[in-house]
Amino acid sequence: MSSLRIVVIGGGAAGFFGAITAAETFPDATITILEKSRTVLNKVRISGGGRCNVTHACFDNKKLVRYYPRGEKPLRTLLNQFDATATVRWFDEHGVTLKTEADGRMFPSTNTSETIVTCLMATARRLGIQIRTSCGVSTLTHTTTDKGQSQWQLTLLTDEVIQADRLLIATGGYPQAASYTWMPSQTEPLISPVPSLFTFNVPESYLLPLAGVSVSDAGVSIQGTKQEQRGPLLLTHWGFSGPAVLRLSAWAARELAAMDYRFTLRINWTPTLNENQLRNMLQEFRQQNGRKQVASQNPFGLPNRLWQLFVSESGMTDSQRWADLPAKPLNRLVERLTNSQFQVVGKTTFKDEFVTCGGISIDSLNPQTLESKAHPGLFFAGEVLDIDGITGGFNFQNAWTTGYVAGRHIGQ
Ligand SMILES: Cc1cc2nc3c(=O)[nH]c(=O)nc-3n(C[C@H](O)[C@H](O)[C@H](O)COP(=O)(O)OP(=O)(O)OC[C@H]3O[C@@H](n4cnc5c(N)ncnc54)[C@H](O)[C@@H]3O)c2cc1C
Repeated sequence: MSSLRIVVIGGGAAGFFGAITAAETFPDATITILEKSRTVLNKVRISGGGRCNVTHACFDNKKLVRYYPRGEKPLRTLLNQFDATATVRWFDEHGVTLKTEADGRMFPSTNTSETIVTCLMATARRLGIQIRTSCGVSTLTHTTTDKGQSQWQLTLLTDEVIQADRLLIATGGYPQAASYTWMPSQTEPLISPVPSLFTFNVPESYLLPLAGVSVSDAGVSIQGTKQEQRGPLLLTHWGFSGPAVLRLSAWAARELAAMDYRFTLRINWTPTLNENQLRNMLQEFRQQNGRKQVASQNPFGLPNRLWQLFVSESGMTDSQRWADLPAKPLNRLVERLTNSQFQVVGKTTFKDEFVTCGGISIDSLNPQTLESKAHPGLFFAGEVLDIDGITGGFNFQNAWTTGYVAGRHIGQ
């Protein structure tokens, strides 16, 4: 009897992990990875600034799923099969030690993504997986054999035709997946893809000259929505970046796309204090520092240049003393500290790193196997799914988890 032909479309993290798991689970199957580009694992290579943030040291799956704006519910099930603990163990068993940074991000201890690329390539080769590059799939046709089994006919951009008994689609997010048009029509419901993880452009901001200044804790929110986040904020020469902004862009990805990335961003620079507490603190400070200049005395630990700009933008001169501070500029300062407003006009990619919000709906798949409910034998893994995380290693964890789950079941 001829062996089961498993074809994986997409030579990224999810495709490799799916193919490797399938080869380890179903050693008699013939497994081929088809990759459109001339090289495989391109995103792994450039990821994490060339270091590859493989996963996150969050080993409690109930907590881990909270880092995914889309996919929390399906991941609760999927992580039972392969979670961050399993990722660390898998790489260790395959000769790669991971190290954890202070913020929980995990990288290869060699500090280079080539270690991950080499590991995946060597493992795939050892298992006899065929890796074919410059093999973009342009169309898929589904047929059913006389015995009722699913079969797939793939046509490559080169016009070559390939037959498959089982198929894993791991073609990544938009726009890599070329808007998913090559997939068989009505294959699976598609949640319309929009970008996630980006920074905000504020061309008219008076803070632009302070590019490079960062604040360790700020509250950011989008006017007219319930979307808000807290965390470090970075002032850039085009607007705002940093973890708080990236998180906001991820959780509000769909709302921001609907607004065409034009909205009012509100920033609370002292998010631990409400307005009353802030006023009381300023009052106290004023009593104790009456003879000192407002611009040179910063009660909130904000960067000095930022504080000085707030003071001048609130209508005070450099020589203004705390004791003689009139009510109007004081109120303006309070407003600026708690509710600064900026008009965002567009977005910018964060260090070329972005992920896709949207993709193949998990509802159309078996949540335990990632097999299509409508088309037995067709599986999905990675960013092509409607699952995405914030920065920190969560998107690769999704690729390992879903690649593993699909690979584990694809030969059954
Ligand atoms: C610059 C950058 C840095 C990143 N850094 C990190 C990080 O450090 N940590 C982290 O967790 N996440 C990171 N991410 C996100 C992470 O890289 C992705 O979520 C992850 O690579 C998705 O893996 P994937 O296999 O699903 O898709 P991809 O890696 O996109 O792979 C899909 C592959 O399919 C191929 N393909 C597409 N269509 C076809 C077709 N029709 N036929 C054949 N092949 C096709 C593509 O060419 C591609 O090689 C980063 C993203 C970027 C852009």
